[in-house]
Amino acid sequence: MQTGNRFRAYPTLAQEQILLQWIGHQRFIYNAKVSEDRYYRAFEETAVALSGTPVPVDQEYARFIGESTPWLREVPSQILRNGAVLWKQAYGRFCSGLAGRPTFKRKDGTQSVWITSELFCFKYNDKTHTEELGLGTRKFPVGVLSFTAHTPYSRPSSLHVSVEAGKWYVSFSSDDGLPEPKEEETVSWLRMFTEEELEVRTLGFDRGVAVPVVASDGRSMDLLPVHKSRTERKERARRRYQRRLARQKKGSQNRKKTKRRLARSFEYGKNVRKDVVHKATHTFATDPERSLFVVEDLKVNHMTKRPEPKKDASGGYVKNGARAKAGLNRAILSSCWGLFVLFLSYKARRNGKLVIKVSPKFSSQECARCGHIHPDNQPSQAEPCKIGCQRCGQRDNADRNAGLVIAKRGIRLLLEGDVQRKPVRRCGIGKRKQLGQELSEDKASGEENKTRRSKRLRASSAKEELSVARPETPTTASA
Ligand SMILES: [Zn+2]
Repeated sequence: MQTGNRFRAYPTLAQEQILLQWIGHQRFIYNAKVSEDRYYRAFEETAVALSGTPVPVDQEYARFIGESTPWLREVPSQILRNGAVLWKQAYGRFCSGLAGRPTFKRKDGTQSVWITSELFCFKYNDKTHTEELGLGTRKFPVGVLSFTAHTPYSRPSSLHVSVEAGKWYVSFSSDDGLPEPKEEETVSWLRMFTEEELEVRTLGFDRGVAVPVVASDGRSMDLLPVHKSRTERKERARRRYQRRLARQKKGSQNRKKTKRRLARSFEYGKNVRKDVVHKATHTFATDPERSLFVVEDLKVNHMTKRPEPKKDASGGYVKNGARAKAGLNRAILSSCWGLFVLFLSYKARRNGKLVIKVSPKFSSQECARCGHIHPDNQPSQAEPCKIGCQRCGQRDNADRNAGLVIAKRGIRLLLEGDVQRKPVRRCGIGKRKQLGQELSEDKASGEENKTRRSKRLRASSAKEELSVARPETPTTASA
């Protein structure tokens, strides 16, 4: 099972300088690949097509090290190569429809560098009885990077070092060797239960703005009052910094300082929300009595869209409630619905449990006992939190009732056999792959092609890359 850990790292000032250089150089290569791709595509239909040159989608970066960029040699070559590999991976995701086309990485915001196993090693220090992470090579030494491991980890094959609002982190990703329960098996196991048995084992979650998540057994997830007041204070600071930022000159040192403070003002809220969601989802996912979790399939992106501008007869703009909607959007986004489902899904999967999404239609108007749907069931002015069924007279807490309705819908969906699963889409550059192979067969002559290809084969580390091997563009090959 793939697991990951992110630890606080504490580089020395000298190490910080080197790591920032690594980050910058890797970003340079990535951005150079992006801009090269844009350049080629600008002429793809006309000049490039006529010359028979395919738009290069490869991991080569040597062409970016030239007379004007001698400083690129100041870092280990693996750092540069990883920049090119990251771009290729991003392009692969774009080609399989999982993401947009790679864009330029910005200089501000969270920065990170991908470091592969050639550039680090773990050593056990007998004196301090701790494991040390050594970074760098003999030619480019960085030294021991100290970090706090707040939880056990296994040694990774590659790692990321990142800096966010002035704080450094090191992230490991590794496989713990344990098999992960398959979703199909969980589904077929759950289908062996009857509807009544499933009702005991199921939790439905209603998501709202006042209380972010309420479960059908009455438990809820919310920030503590102290979290809320502190977040509010940070929010006021954030607004102050943003006003200050707007007045400051671009590129000035003071602007940089304000940017860093602004980034820090976001940090507290983000950390608190993550912490609260992690704790709540852990409690639900490890509850031995529950094995099916049902959530509403909410389109948070659509729900938090900006309202359309309104015009009157004379063509002037009139009020469209954008201010109020912005407030609601902030409330929706800060209630971390997406994060809750994301964390609950992976934790449930690890525990051999299931999360399914159901239609949220009329879940607040339906009676959980008799299934009667009517707008009059909804909480009234007199009883703001109660739902009162017009048919069977059932009275219940509105959020809890919605949770029960959602749980019922989930059970029905599971038993009827319509559990929607996202099809697994693999990354790969299919179309380009074929184009490259054909070209290599036609143009390059036997012997020369073979040596070049074998060279490339050695250079590429990933196995699936083998078939992508393609000679250099014909113009440079003949030169
Ligand atoms: Zn009823």
